[in-house]
Amino acid sequence: MELWPSRVGYSDLRRRDLGSSGKPELKVLLAGPRGFCAGVERAIRIVEMALAEHGAPVYVRHEIVHNRHVVSDLEAKGAVFVDELDEVPDDALVVFSAHGVPKSIPDEARRRRLLFTDATCPLVSKVHREVERHHRDGRRIVLIGHAGHPEVEGTMGQVAHGAVVLVETVEDVAALELDARERLAYATQTTLSVQDTAAIVAALKARFPAIEGPRNEDICYATTNRQNAIAAIAARADLVMVVGSPNSSNSLRLVEIARRSGCPRAHLVESARDLDPRWLDGVSVVGISAGASAPELLVQQVIDELGTRFAVDVELAEIVREDVTFRAPPIPKRAPAGAS
Ligand code: SF4
Repeated sequence: MELWPSRVGYSDLRRRDLGSSGKPELKVLLAGPRGFCAGVERAIRIVEMALAEHGAPVYVRHEIVHNRHVVSDLEAKGAVFVDELDEVPDDALVVFSAHGVPKSIPDEARRRRLLFTDATCPLVSKVHREVERHHRDGRRIVLIGHAGHPEVEGTMGQVAHGAVVLVETVEDVAALELDARERLAYATQTTLSVQDTAAIVAALKARFPAIEGPRNEDICYATTNRQNAIAAIAARADLVMVVGSPNSSNSLRLVEIARRSGCPRAHLVESARDLDPRWLDGVSVVGISAGASAPELLVQQVIDELGTRFAVDVELAEIVREDVTFRAPPIPKRAPAGAS
């Protein structure tokens, strides 16, 4: 398939400045930070360690992170992705994804005596512990998040059914049927828009002044940094492209934030194959970022693709340097044959 079909006509190219290579010039603002966060790196490392320790197949419940490229790469190495534990054979090792799981999942794995390891990001686990503490202290919990997202299902599943009520918008807060005298607390999904979440938290505090919440919000450092970085480049760009998968919450938020921050022409691309040359009509500055689950290789391929048509000048627009890493847990070993 031709990635850059001739729909970008010669007349379009002539209108541009031609660089010394004879190609029109294109400035690329590369957001920093972008791409893999510490939680995603750790989750991928855990699956690779499990494969090294046990050999293929290693089962993974749900996509380890929301990126098709990462999932295909691990599948090629011997990982088998399943939706539920009943698809995992009794003698297999299973890894739980970075998004976290309801308590019922490790309980079920123990009941079946499956070997399992948990790749839940430590920053998601921190939210799980907060929710458990509020529940133990007798508070009803309002969770700000997106219905159906695995992280939300995992967080709600830390406590008894009905103990957590989910809100997605300021309107949902207005519609909450809670007694203002009830002891309340809130928590949030880690990958939300910082700006939208602040508005929802403000609405919660206005309606329920005594509601408790985290000292620093639950939105993680990686989400916050990527959102600030894309806002900074969107204001300078004619077009923004975010590399990420359509089911990646933090990638979708980056597209929304680029649009709100001064660049209405913002698109999500899973890979270089998604580039539409028509997007580049009249464009001289392109901003590029990537969601926390998107590998840097895909970003490089997008830039390389632009380079087939343009004389690309890349400027790294880094607002902060990240040095966060998370240790991986040990991979459980199989009991020696004959041991009970
Ligand atoms: Fe952890 Fe944040 Fe990365 Fe999610 S986006 S895996 S919470 S560091």
